[in-house]
Amino acid sequence: MKRVIVIGGGVAGIAASIRLAEAGWKPVLLETRGKLGGRATSFEDPRSGRVLDNCQHVVMGCCSNIMDLYQRLGVADRIEWHPETWWANPPRRPDRLRPAPLPAPGQFGLAFLRMRLLSTDSKILIGQAMWRLIRLGFAGRMHWADRPFADFLSETGQSEDARRLFWDPVVISACNLPCHEVAGNHAMQVFQESFLAGGWQATMGLSTCDLRSLYDSAISAVEESGGVIRLGTSVRGIAFDGIRANGVVTDEGLVSAAAIISTVPPDRLARLVSRPMAAADPRLANLHRFKFSPILGVHLFFESPVLRDDVRTYPHMVLPGRATQWFFNKGRDESGLHHVHAVISAADDWMELDEEAIAARVLEDLHWAMPGSRGLIPVEVRSVKEKRATFRASPGIDDIRPSARPGGFGVPNLYLAGDWCDTGWPATMEGAARSGYSAAAAVTGVGGVISDVPAGPLARWMGLR
Ligand SMILES: Cc1cc2nc3c(=O)[nH]c(=O)nc-3n(C[C@H](O)[C@H](O)[C@H](O)COP(=O)(O)OP(=O)(O)OC[C@H]3O[C@@H](n4cnc5c(N)ncnc54)[C@H](O)[C@@H]3O)c2cc1C
Repeated sequence: MKRVIVIGGGVAGIAASIRLAEAGWKPVLLETRGKLGGRATSFEDPRSGRVLDNCQHVVMGCCSNIMDLYQRLGVADRIEWHPETWWANPPRRPDRLRPAPLPAPGQFGLAFLRMRLLSTDSKILIGQAMWRLIRLGFAGRMHWADRPFADFLSETGQSEDARRLFWDPVVISACNLPCHEVAGNHAMQVFQESFLAGGWQATMGLSTCDLRSLYDSAISAVEESGGVIRLGTSVRGIAFDGIRANGVVTDEGLVSAAAIISTVPPDRLARLVSRPMAAADPRLANLHRFKFSPILGVHLFFESPVLRDDVRTYPHMVLPGRATQWFFNKGRDESGLHHVHAVISAADDWMELDEEAIAARVLEDLHWAMPGSRGLIPVEVRSVKEKRATFRASPGIDDIRPSARPGGFGVPNLYLAGDWCDTGWPATMEGAARSGYSAAAAVTGVGGVISDVPAGPLARWMGLR
Protein backbone atom coordinates (compact mmCIF):
# COMPACT_ATOMS: atom_id res chain seq x y z
CA MET A 1 0.00 0.00 0.00
CA LYS A 2 2.90 2.36 0.61
CA ARG A 3 4.49 2.15 -2.83
CA VAL A 4 4.45 5.40 -4.78
CA ILE A 5 5.65 5.80 -8.35
CA VAL A 6 7.53 9.02 -9.02
CA ILE A 7 7.83 9.76 -12.74
CA GLY A 8 10.96 11.78 -13.49
CA GLY A 9 14.25 12.22 -11.63
CA GLY A 10 14.76 15.99 -11.86
CA VAL A 11 14.85 18.18 -8.76
CA ALA A 12 11.09 17.77 -8.20
CA GLY A 13 11.26 13.96 -8.47
CA ILE A 14 14.28 13.74 -6.17
CA ALA A 15 12.65 16.10 -3.64
CA ALA A 16 9.41 14.10 -3.65
CA SER A 17 11.23 10.75 -3.32
CA ILE A 18 13.41 11.87 -0.43
CA ARG A 19 10.41 13.14 1.53
CA LEU A 20 8.39 10.00 0.74
CA ALA A 21 11.26 7.84 1.94
CA GLU A 22 11.61 9.85 5.14
CA ALA A 23 7.87 9.43 5.81
CA GLY A 24 8.18 5.64 5.58
CA TRP A 25 6.78 5.22 2.06
CA LYS A 26 8.51 3.36 -0.75
CA PRO A 27 9.22 5.60 -3.72
CA VAL A 28 9.82 3.94 -7.09
CA LEU A 29 11.45 6.70 -9.12
CA LEU A 30 11.46 6.06 -12.88
CA GLU A 31 13.78 8.27 -14.91
CA THR A 32 14.16 8.00 -18.65
CA ARG A 33 17.77 9.19 -18.76
CA GLY A 34 20.74 7.38 -17.33
CA LYS A 35 21.28 10.04 -14.63
CA LEU A 36 19.42 12.24 -12.16
CA GLY A 37 18.94 16.00 -12.23
CA GLY A 38 16.71 16.62 -15.26
CA ARG A 39 17.28 20.16 -16.48
CA ALA A 40 19.76 20.86 -13.67
CA THR A 41 22.42 18.29 -14.42
CA SER A 42 25.79 17.57 -16.09
CA PHE A 43 26.91 15.49 -19.03
CA GLU A 44 30.14 13.97 -20.23
CA ASP A 45 31.25 15.95 -23.24
CA PRO A 46 32.12 13.36 -25.91
CA ARG A 47 34.58 15.77 -27.55
CA SER A 48 36.75 16.40 -24.50
CA GLY A 49 35.66 13.79 -21.97
CA ARG A 50 35.02 16.58 -19.46
CA VAL A 51 31.97 16.53 -17.20
CA LEU A 52 30.16 19.81 -17.87
CA ASP A 53 26.97 21.26 -16.43
CA ASN A 54 24.26 21.80 -19.02
CA CYS A 55 24.26 25.37 -17.69
CA GLN A 56 25.31 27.31 -14.63
CA HIS A 57 22.57 26.99 -12.03
CA VAL A 58 22.26 29.73 -9.42
CA VAL A 59 20.44 29.54 -6.09
CA MET A 60 19.75 32.51 -3.84
CA GLY A 61 19.65 32.70 -0.05
CA CYS A 62 15.86 33.01 -0.26
CA CYS A 63 15.61 29.54 -1.86
CA SER A 64 14.71 27.75 1.37
CA ASN A 65 13.46 24.50 -0.17
CA ILE A 66 16.25 23.64 -2.59
CA MET A 67 18.71 24.41 0.22
CA ASP A 68 16.72 22.16 2.53
CA LEU A 69 16.93 19.43 -0.11
CA TYR A 70 20.70 19.91 -0.39
CA GLN A 71 20.88 19.59 3.41
CA ARG A 72 18.95 16.34 3.33
CA LEU A 73 21.23 15.07 0.56
CA GLY A 74 24.28 16.11 2.61
CA VAL A 75 25.62 18.47 -0.06
CA ALA A 76 24.69 21.93 1.27
CA ASP A 77 28.38 22.57 1.97
CA ARG A 78 29.10 22.30 -1.76
CA ILE A 79 27.30 25.59 -2.36
CA GLU A 80 29.62 28.59 -2.34
CA TRP A 81 27.96 31.88 -1.41
CA HIS A 82 28.64 35.19 -3.15
CA PRO A 83 27.13 38.19 -1.33
CA GLU A 84 28.28 40.64 -4.01
CA THR A 85 27.75 40.86 -7.74
CA TRP A 86 30.05 42.48 -10.30
CA TRP A 87 28.58 44.57 -13.11
CA ALA A 88 30.70 45.26 -16.21
CA ASN A 89 31.07 48.93 -17.03
CA PRO A 90 33.89 49.32 -19.58
CA PRO A 91 36.19 51.12 -20.04
CA ARG A 92 35.92 51.61 -16.29
CA ARG A 93 36.44 48.81 -13.82
CA PRO A 94 33.30 46.79 -12.98
CA ASP A 95 30.84 48.11 -10.42
CA ARG A 96 30.44 46.09 -7.26
CA LEU A 97 26.97 45.65 -5.76
CA ARG A 98 27.67 44.58 -2.23
CA PRO A 99 25.35 44.64 0.80
CA ALA A 100 26.31 46.87 3.71
CA PRO A 101 25.51 45.91 7.33
CA LEU A 102 22.27 47.90 7.22
CA PRO A 103 18.75 46.62 7.76
CA ALA A 104 16.78 45.52 4.68
CA PRO A 105 15.64 47.01 2.40
CA GLY A 106 18.51 49.51 2.73
CA GLN A 107 21.42 47.06 2.62
CA PHE A 108 22.24 47.59 -1.07
CA GLY A 109 21.51 51.34 -0.99
CA LEU A 110 25.07 52.60 -0.56
CA ALA A 111 26.59 50.27 -3.15
CA PHE A 112 23.78 51.08 -5.56
CA LEU A 113 24.38 54.82 -5.17
CA ARG A 114 28.07 54.22 -5.89
CA MET A 115 27.43 52.31 -9.15
CA ARG A 116 29.00 54.34 -11.94
CA LEU A 117 27.15 52.37 -14.56
CA LEU A 118 23.88 54.17 -13.83
CA SER A 119 23.22 57.91 -14.07
CA THR A 120 21.82 59.78 -11.07
CA ASP A 121 18.49 60.12 -12.89
CA SER A 122 18.29 56.37 -13.45
CA LYS A 123 19.14 55.70 -9.81
CA ILE A 124 16.34 57.98 -8.64
CA LEU A 125 13.85 56.28 -10.95
CA ILE A 126 14.95 52.80 -9.89
CA GLY A 127 14.77 53.87 -6.22
CA GLN A 128 11.21 55.11 -6.71
CA ALA A 129 10.20 51.84 -8.36
CA MET A 130 11.81 49.88 -5.50
CA TRP A 131 9.84 51.93 -2.99
CA ARG A 132 6.67 51.08 -4.89
CA LEU A 133 7.61 47.38 -4.87
CA ILE A 134 8.05 47.51 -1.10
CA ARG A 135 4.68 49.17 -0.64
CA LEU A 136 2.95 46.75 -3.01
CA GLY A 137 4.06 43.83 -0.86
CA PHE A 138 2.98 40.30 -1.64
CA ALA A 139 -0.72 41.07 -2.01
CA GLY A 140 -0.03 43.97 -4.33
CA ARG A 141 2.18 41.96 -6.62
CA MET A 142 -0.56 39.40 -7.17
CA HIS A 143 -2.57 42.17 -8.84
CA TRP A 144 0.12 42.15 -11.52
CA ALA A 145 -0.36 38.50 -12.45
CA ASP A 146 -2.22 39.40 -15.65
CA ARG A 147 -0.05 42.28 -16.81
CA PRO A 148 3.51 42.37 -18.15
CA PHE A 149 6.22 43.78 -15.91
CA ALA A 150 6.99 46.39 -18.60
CA ASP A 151 3.67 48.08 -17.69
CA PHE A 152 4.99 48.56 -14.17
CA LEU A 153 8.22 50.01 -15.56
CA SER A 154 6.18 52.43 -17.69
CA GLU A 155 3.92 53.42 -14.78
CA THR A 156 6.96 54.21 -12.68
CA GLY A 157 8.50 56.21 -15.55
CA GLN A 158 11.65 54.08 -15.97
CA SER A 159 14.04 55.51 -18.55
CA GLU A 160 15.50 53.55 -21.44
CA ASP A 161 18.85 53.36 -19.64
CA ALA A 162 17.31 52.18 -16.36
CA ARG A 163 15.53 49.42 -18.24
CA ARG A 164 18.48 48.36 -20.37
CA LEU A 165 21.18 48.55 -17.72
CA PHE A 166 19.31 47.44 -14.62
CA TRP A 167 15.82 45.94 -14.99
CA ASP A 168 16.48 43.87 -18.13
CA PRO A 169 19.62 42.08 -16.94
CA VAL A 170 18.02 41.10 -13.62
CA VAL A 171 14.60 40.14 -14.97
CA ILE A 172 15.82 38.27 -18.06
CA SER A 173 18.29 36.17 -16.10
CA ALA A 174 15.86 35.42 -13.27
CA CYS A 175 12.65 34.88 -15.26
CA ASN A 176 14.05 33.82 -18.65
CA LEU A 177 11.74 36.29 -20.42
CA PRO A 178 12.10 39.98 -21.26
CA CYS A 179 10.21 42.61 -19.24
CA HIS A 180 7.55 43.12 -21.93
CA GLU A 181 6.68 39.39 -21.87
CA VAL A 182 6.98 38.32 -18.26
CA ALA A 183 4.04 38.48 -15.84
CA GLY A 184 4.43 41.40 -13.44
CA ASN A 185 4.15 39.27 -10.30
CA HIS A 186 6.93 36.92 -11.41
CA ALA A 187 9.41 39.76 -12.01
CA MET A 188 8.34 41.56 -8.82
CA GLN A 189 8.95 38.43 -6.79
CA VAL A 190 12.63 38.50 -7.76
CA PHE A 191 13.10 41.90 -6.13
CA GLN A 192 10.69 41.44 -3.23
CA GLU A 193 11.99 38.04 -2.12
CA SER A 194 15.68 38.76 -2.53
CA PHE A 195 17.16 42.28 -2.86
CA LEU A 196 14.47 43.99 -0.78
CA ALA A 197 13.95 41.24 1.79
CA GLY A 198 17.48 41.00 3.20
CA GLY A 199 21.20 40.66 2.53
CA TRP A 200 21.17 36.89 2.94
CA GLN A 201 18.12 36.41 0.70
CA ALA A 202 19.98 38.10 -2.18
CA THR A 203 23.20 36.15 -1.71
CA MET A 204 24.02 34.06 -4.76
CA GLY A 205 24.92 30.40 -4.32
CA LEU A 206 26.94 28.43 -6.90
CA SER A 207 27.76 24.76 -6.75
CA THR A 208 31.44 23.96 -6.36
CA CYS A 209 30.97 20.49 -7.88
CA ASP A 210 29.25 19.42 -11.07
CA LEU A 211 25.46 19.44 -10.72
CA ARG A 212 25.10 15.71 -11.25
CA SER A 213 27.22 14.94 -8.17
CA LEU A 214 24.77 16.81 -5.95
CA TYR A 215 22.26 13.98 -6.32
CA ASP A 216 24.50 10.95 -5.70
CA SER A 217 23.24 10.35 -2.17
CA ALA A 218 19.58 10.32 -3.28
CA ILE A 219 19.97 6.77 -4.56
CA SER A 220 21.08 5.29 -1.23
CA ALA A 221 18.54 7.38 0.73
CA VAL A 222 15.70 6.01 -1.39
CA GLU A 223 17.02 2.44 -1.32
CA GLU A 224 17.32 2.48 2.48
CA SER A 225 13.57 3.14 2.63
CA GLY A 226 12.92 0.04 0.55
CA GLY A 227 12.30 2.17 -2.52
CA VAL A 228 14.25 2.20 -5.76
CA ILE A 229 15.54 4.60 -8.40
CA ARG A 230 15.41 3.08 -11.87
CA LEU A 231 17.46 5.05 -14.36
CA GLY A 232 17.03 4.49 -18.09
CA THR A 233 13.36 3.62 -17.60
CA SER A 234 10.81 5.57 -19.61
CA VAL A 235 7.20 5.76 -18.60
CA ARG A 236 5.11 5.26 -21.75
CA GLY A 237 1.73 5.98 -20.20
CA ILE A 238 -0.27 6.17 -16.98
CA ALA A 239 -2.76 3.31 -16.59
CA PHE A 240 -6.25 4.64 -15.79
CA ASP A 241 -9.26 2.49 -14.90
CA GLY A 242 -11.84 5.24 -15.27
CA ILE A 243 -11.51 6.40 -11.66
CA ARG A 244 -7.99 5.80 -10.39
CA ALA A 245 -4.48 5.57 -11.81
CA ASN A 246 -3.42 1.93 -11.37
CA GLY A 247 0.21 2.34 -12.23
CA VAL A 248 2.44 3.21 -15.16
CA VAL A 249 3.34 1.38 -18.33
CA THR A 250 7.04 0.96 -19.10
CA ASP A 251 8.86 -1.17 -21.67
CA GLU A 252 8.95 -3.93 -19.05
CA GLY A 253 5.19 -3.79 -18.48
CA LEU A 254 2.87 -2.37 -15.86
CA VAL A 255 4.35 -1.08 -12.61
CA SER A 256 1.54 -0.72 -10.10
CA ALA A 257 1.41 1.49 -7.02
CA ALA A 258 -0.98 3.06 -4.56
CA ALA A 259 -0.23 6.57 -5.84
CA ILE A 260 1.58 8.26 -8.69
CA ILE A 261 3.48 11.53 -8.60
CA SER A 262 4.26 12.91 -12.04
CA THR A 263 7.15 15.40 -12.05
CA VAL A 264 7.64 15.63 -15.82
CA PRO A 265 7.08 18.91 -17.70
CA PRO A 266 3.56 19.57 -19.02
CA ASP A 267 4.26 18.64 -22.65
CA ARG A 268 5.69 15.28 -21.49
CA LEU A 269 2.79 14.63 -19.15
CA ALA A 270 0.34 15.28 -22.00
CA ARG A 271 1.88 12.27 -23.80
CA LEU A 272 1.40 10.01 -20.78
CA VAL A 273 -2.30 10.55 -20.14
CA SER A 274 -5.12 9.08 -22.21
CA ARG A 275 -8.06 11.20 -23.33
CA PRO A 276 -10.45 9.74 -20.73
CA MET A 277 -7.89 10.45 -18.03
CA ALA A 278 -7.34 14.03 -19.22
CA ALA A 279 -11.10 14.53 -19.23
CA ALA A 280 -11.38 13.14 -15.71
CA ASP A 281 -8.99 15.63 -14.09
CA PRO A 282 -9.29 19.42 -14.52
CA ARG A 283 -5.57 19.79 -13.72
CA LEU A 284 -4.77 18.04 -16.99
CA ALA A 285 -6.92 20.32 -19.14
CA ASN A 286 -4.31 23.01 -19.82
CA LEU A 287 -1.15 21.03 -20.43
CA HIS A 288 -0.99 22.09 -24.10
CA ARG A 289 -1.18 25.78 -23.15
CA PHE A 290 2.31 25.93 -21.66
CA LYS A 291 4.95 27.47 -23.93
CA PHE A 292 8.70 27.38 -23.31
CA SER A 293 11.63 29.75 -23.33
CA PRO A 294 15.20 28.69 -24.22
CA ILE A 295 18.51 29.23 -22.40
CA LEU A 296 21.94 28.91 -23.97
CA GLY A 297 24.98 27.96 -21.90
CA VAL A 298 28.44 28.31 -23.46
CA HIS A 299 31.59 26.77 -22.00
CA LEU A 300 34.79 28.51 -23.11
CA PHE A 301 38.30 27.33 -22.34
CA PHE A 302 41.26 29.73 -22.55
CA GLU A 303 44.97 29.32 -22.08
CA SER A 304 45.11 32.51 -19.98
CA PRO A 305 42.70 33.96 -17.43
CA VAL A 306 40.14 36.30 -19.00
CA LEU A 307 37.80 37.42 -16.21
CA ARG A 308 40.40 39.65 -14.62
CA ASP A 309 41.97 43.08 -14.87
CA ASP A 310 45.08 44.56 -13.29
CA VAL A 311 43.41 44.65 -9.86
CA ARG A 312 41.55 41.37 -9.38
CA THR A 313 40.12 38.18 -10.78
CA TYR A 314 36.33 38.22 -10.89
CA PRO A 315 34.20 35.23 -9.85
CA HIS A 316 31.47 36.29 -12.25
CA MET A 317 30.32 39.28 -14.27
CA VAL A 318 26.90 40.74 -15.16
CA LEU A 319 26.85 42.32 -18.63
CA PRO A 320 24.24 45.10 -18.60
CA GLY A 321 22.78 45.89 -22.00
CA ARG A 322 24.45 42.95 -23.78
CA ALA A 323 23.00 39.76 -25.23
CA THR A 324 25.16 37.61 -22.93
CA GLN A 325 23.83 38.32 -19.44
CA TRP A 326 26.43 36.55 -17.30
CA PHE A 327 29.93 35.14 -17.30
CA PHE A 328 30.94 32.75 -14.54
CA ASN A 329 34.56 32.05 -13.72
CA LYS A 330 34.83 28.27 -13.28
CA GLY A 331 38.57 28.38 -12.53
CA ARG A 332 41.29 26.17 -14.00
CA ASP A 333 40.43 22.68 -15.06
CA GLU A 334 42.63 19.59 -14.76
CA SER A 335 44.37 20.33 -18.06
CA GLY A 336 45.28 23.83 -16.84
CA LEU A 337 42.80 25.64 -19.08
CA HIS A 338 40.79 28.57 -17.72
CA HIS A 339 37.10 27.71 -17.87
CA VAL A 340 34.55 30.50 -18.33
CA HIS A 341 30.84 29.87 -18.68
CA ALA A 342 28.51 32.29 -20.49
CA VAL A 343 24.74 32.31 -19.96
CA ILE A 344 22.21 33.74 -22.39
CA SER A 345 18.63 33.59 -21.11
CA ALA A 346 15.55 34.21 -23.28
CA ALA A 347 17.82 33.01 -26.07
CA ASP A 348 15.22 32.60 -28.85
CA ASP A 349 17.42 34.49 -31.34
CA TRP A 350 20.38 32.19 -30.70
CA MET A 351 18.74 28.83 -31.27
CA GLU A 352 19.41 28.71 -35.01
CA LEU A 353 23.06 29.78 -34.72
CA ASP A 354 25.87 27.24 -35.09
CA GLU A 355 28.60 26.96 -32.48
CA GLU A 356 31.04 29.14 -34.42
CA ALA A 357 28.55 32.00 -34.66
CA ILE A 358 27.62 31.58 -30.99
CA ALA A 359 31.27 31.67 -29.94
CA ALA A 360 31.88 34.81 -32.02
CA ARG A 361 28.96 36.68 -30.40
CA VAL A 362 29.85 35.58 -26.89
CA LEU A 363 33.50 36.55 -27.42
CA GLU A 364 32.44 40.00 -28.59
CA ASP A 365 30.58 40.43 -25.28
CA LEU A 366 33.50 39.08 -23.27
CA HIS A 367 35.95 41.45 -24.95
CA TRP A 368 33.52 44.31 -24.34
CA ALA A 369 33.17 43.48 -20.63
CA MET A 370 36.85 42.72 -20.02
CA PRO A 371 38.83 44.92 -22.43
CA GLY A 372 42.03 43.27 -21.22
CA SER A 373 40.86 39.99 -22.77
CA ARG A 374 40.86 41.42 -26.30
CA GLY A 375 42.88 39.27 -28.62
CA LEU A 376 42.41 36.17 -26.46
CA ILE A 377 40.41 33.45 -28.14
CA PRO A 378 39.22 30.19 -26.60
CA VAL A 379 40.99 26.97 -27.46
CA GLU A 380 37.77 25.03 -26.88
CA VAL A 381 34.08 25.95 -26.98
CA ARG A 382 31.05 23.87 -26.06
CA SER A 383 27.58 25.38 -26.33
CA VAL A 384 24.49 23.75 -24.88
CA LYS A 385 21.09 24.80 -26.23
CA GLU A 386 18.17 24.09 -23.92
CA LYS A 387 15.23 24.92 -26.15
CA ARG A 388 12.62 24.12 -23.51
CA ALA A 389 14.53 25.43 -20.53
CA THR A 390 11.61 26.92 -18.60
CA PHE A 391 7.91 27.52 -19.14
CA ARG A 392 7.13 31.03 -20.37
CA ALA A 393 5.86 32.94 -17.33
CA SER A 394 3.57 35.18 -19.37
CA PRO A 395 0.69 37.20 -17.90
CA GLY A 396 -2.11 34.86 -16.79
CA ILE A 397 0.16 31.80 -16.52
CA ASP A 398 -0.61 31.28 -12.83
CA ASP A 399 -4.26 30.57 -13.70
CA ILE A 400 -3.28 27.34 -15.42
CA ARG A 401 -0.52 26.07 -13.13
CA PRO A 402 -1.98 22.99 -11.41
CA SER A 403 -1.89 22.02 -7.76
CA ALA A 404 -0.19 18.92 -6.43
CA ARG A 405 -3.41 17.52 -4.99
CA PRO A 406 -6.26 16.13 -7.06
CA GLY A 407 -8.90 18.11 -5.15
CA GLY A 408 -12.53 17.01 -5.28
CA PHE A 409 -12.75 16.33 -9.01
CA GLY A 410 -9.39 14.96 -10.09
CA VAL A 411 -7.96 11.45 -10.36
CA PRO A 412 -7.73 10.74 -6.62
CA ASN A 413 -4.31 9.08 -6.51
CA LEU A 414 -2.53 11.20 -9.16
CA TYR A 415 -0.29 13.95 -7.75
CA LEU A 416 1.51 16.57 -9.81
CA ALA A 417 4.90 18.19 -9.28
CA GLY A 418 7.49 20.03 -11.35
CA ASP A 419 8.59 23.64 -11.60
CA TRP A 420 5.50 24.44 -13.72
CA CYS A 421 3.01 23.59 -10.92
CA ASP A 422 1.39 26.21 -8.69
CA THR A 423 4.31 26.70 -6.33
CA GLY A 424 4.12 30.50 -6.33
CA TRP A 425 7.69 30.46 -7.68
CA PRO A 426 9.06 30.91 -11.18
CA ALA A 427 10.59 27.97 -13.06
CA THR A 428 13.54 27.39 -10.78
CA MET A 429 15.11 24.61 -8.76
CA GLU A 430 13.44 26.24 -5.75
CA GLY A 431 10.04 25.93 -7.45
CA ALA A 432 10.80 22.32 -8.40
CA ALA A 433 11.85 21.43 -4.83
CA ARG A 434 8.72 23.07 -3.42
CA SER A 435 6.52 21.16 -5.84
CA GLY A 436 8.15 17.84 -4.91
CA TYR A 437 7.73 18.54 -1.21
CA SER A 438 4.07 19.53 -1.72
CA ALA A 439 3.30 16.38 -3.70
CA ALA A 440 5.00 14.12 -1.13
CA ALA A 441 3.05 15.83 1.67
CA ALA A 442 -0.19 15.42 -0.26
CA VAL A 443 0.48 11.67 -0.49
CA THR A 444 1.74 11.04 3.05
CA GLY A 445 -0.07 13.72 5.03
CA VAL A 446 3.19 14.80 6.68
CA GLY A 447 5.94 17.30 5.88
CA GLY A 448 5.38 19.91 3.22
CA VAL A 449 7.01 23.05 1.97
CA ILE A 450 9.73 24.67 4.11
CA SER A 451 8.74 28.20 5.08
CA ASP A 452 10.17 31.29 3.38
CA VAL A 453 13.20 33.03 4.82
CA PRO A 454 11.47 35.91 6.63
CA ALA A 455 12.09 39.43 5.36
CA GLY A 456 13.93 41.81 7.68
CA PRO A 457 11.75 43.51 10.35
CA LEU A 458 12.09 47.00 8.83
CA ALA A 459 11.16 45.70 5.36
CA ARG A 460 8.15 43.94 6.87
CA TRP A 461 7.13 47.05 8.77
CA MET A 462 7.33 49.03 5.52
CA GLY A 463 4.86 46.61 3.93
CA LEU A 464 6.98 44.07 2.06
CA ARG A 465 5.28 41.06 3.65
C1 LIG B 1 19.80 26.03 -19.16
C2 LIG B 1 19.04 26.16 -17.87
C3 LIG B 1 19.47 27.05 -16.90
C4 LIG B 1 18.76 27.17 -15.71
N1 LIG B 1 19.23 28.00 -14.72
C5 LIG B 1 18.64 27.96 -13.50
C6 LIG B 1 19.20 28.66 -12.41
O1 LIG B 1 20.23 29.34 -12.52
N2 LIG B 1 18.57 28.58 -11.20
C7 LIG B 1 17.44 27.83 -11.01
O2 LIG B 1 16.94 27.76 -9.89
N3 LIG B 1 16.87 27.17 -12.05
C8 LIG B 1 17.44 27.21 -13.28
N4 LIG B 1 16.90 26.51 -14.31
C9 LIG B 1 15.60 25.86 -14.11
C10 LIG B 1 15.74 24.54 -13.39
O3 LIG B 1 16.73 23.74 -14.00
C11 LIG B 1 14.40 23.84 -13.45
O4 LIG B 1 13.40 24.70 -12.96
C12 LIG B 1 14.37 22.57 -12.61
O5 LIG B 1 15.53 21.81 -12.78
C13 LIG B 1 13.13 21.77 -13.02
O6 LIG B 1 13.09 20.56 -12.31
P1 LIG B 1 11.88 19.57 -12.50
O7 LIG B 1 12.17 18.39 -11.67
O8 LIG B 1 10.60 20.30 -12.30
O9 LIG B 1 11.85 19.15 -14.06
P2 LIG B 1 12.94 18.41 -14.93
O10 LIG B 1 14.29 18.80 -14.52
O11 LIG B 1 12.55 18.63 -16.35
O12 LIG B 1 12.75 16.87 -14.56
C14 LIG B 1 11.85 16.02 -15.22
C15 LIG B 1 12.52 14.68 -15.39
O13 LIG B 1 11.59 13.77 -15.96
C16 LIG B 1 12.26 12.93 -16.89
N5 LIG B 1 11.25 12.40 -17.80
C17 LIG B 1 10.59 13.04 -18.78
N6 LIG B 1 9.71 12.21 -19.39
C18 LIG B 1 9.83 11.03 -18.74
C19 LIG B 1 9.18 9.76 -18.89
N7 LIG B 1 8.25 9.56 -19.82
N8 LIG B 1 9.53 8.74 -18.08
C20 LIG B 1 10.47 8.91 -17.12
N9 LIG B 1 11.12 10.08 -16.94
C21 LIG B 1 10.79 11.12 -17.73
C22 LIG B 1 13.26 13.88 -17.53
O14 LIG B 1 14.33 13.16 -18.14
C23 LIG B 1 13.72 14.71 -16.34
O15 LIG B 1 14.84 14.14 -15.70
C24 LIG B 1 17.58 26.40 -15.51
C25 LIG B 1 17.14 25.52 -16.49
C26 LIG B 1 17.87 25.38 -17.65
C27 LIG B 1 17.41 24.39 -18.69
